Amino acid sequence: MGCYCSCPEPRRSSSDKKPSDRRPSEKRPSDKKDDFLSEAHDVERRLESSGNIYALQQHRFNMCETDMSEFPKIPNTSYNLFDVEQELRELVQEELSIRENRISNSAAADRLQHLKSQYQFLSLKWLFYLSNFAAAQWRAFDLWRSHPQWYMHSQLVDDCVGRQGCCARGCGCCLNRSHNLDASRSLGVGHCTLECGCCARARGFEFSESQKTDLKDLYQSKWEGAPWNGAYGQDRRNFHCMKIHQVSIWGFVPGSGKNPFDMINAPPSYDQSEGKKSKDDESIEEA
Ligand SMILES: [Zn+2]
Ligand SMILES: [Zn+2]
Ligand SMILES: [Zn+2]
Repeated sequence: MGCYCSCPEPRRSSSDKKPSDRRPSEKRPSDKKDDFLSEAHDVERRLESSGNIYALQQHRFNMCETDMSEFPKIPNTSYNLFDVEQELRELVQEELSIRENRISNSAAADRLQHLKSQYQFLSLKWLFYLSNFAAAQWRAFDLWRSHPQWYMHSQLVDDCVGRQGCCARGCGCCLNRSHNLDASRSLGVGHCTLECGCCARARGFEFSESQKTDLKDLYQSKWEGAPWNGAYGQDRRNFHCMKIHQVSIWGFVPGSGKNPFDMINAPPSYDQSEGKKSKDDESIEEA
């Protein structure tokens, strides 16, 4: 009902408008979001069929960075997964080290038993964090990790070299380690950690537990004053951690324009990594 006095009618904000008041050309915020997502998915499909993997992963990254993403941002979930993967690598390398050194006393048996249960525990955490990825981030991660040697990306190899890991000595442990792992330890692939037995032998000593803790804290440390929001999420990690996280989760190096799969040493083709049949395979089957 209108006002019977002479005061002007209060101005309505656009959000107060009844649906019948809205001009056909005006869009509700939810309509704008639907349009944005529809357009973003169209672009994604076109990039998928173009085979431009750099642009595809960059586009998916941008989809997650915008306020229009399919789900509200869940801060830090990919950093949580990234941290768990580092713990899984440490665990697997400690297991291998105990076995390589042929330590067979009861303390070693107890430690192996503990590591076995800890692997299962960390695997469940890994799955939980992965299930919280936004859809576009999950698709990007799924594509990148479809390559069995994703961790041999040149930036991850360079990082291992910089930390004086096995990639610095050319012993091949980081690549060969995956061959020594059974399928139940597949989440532990990757480069050297402070638990790598080959690195400890090359150094000639083991770091103390407190030194290991200090180094791990340093590599995962946050930089509260960082002038960025963090790559997908609110986690303001140090710049080194952000670079390694970016390549580990998304594959692409911002600004490089390079296909992430071409940055892996001796990569199989994209078609092979996607499990698609090449024309040669099809013609062999038809023959
Ligand atoms: Zn080595
Ligand atoms: Zn090593
Ligand atoms: Zn390495």
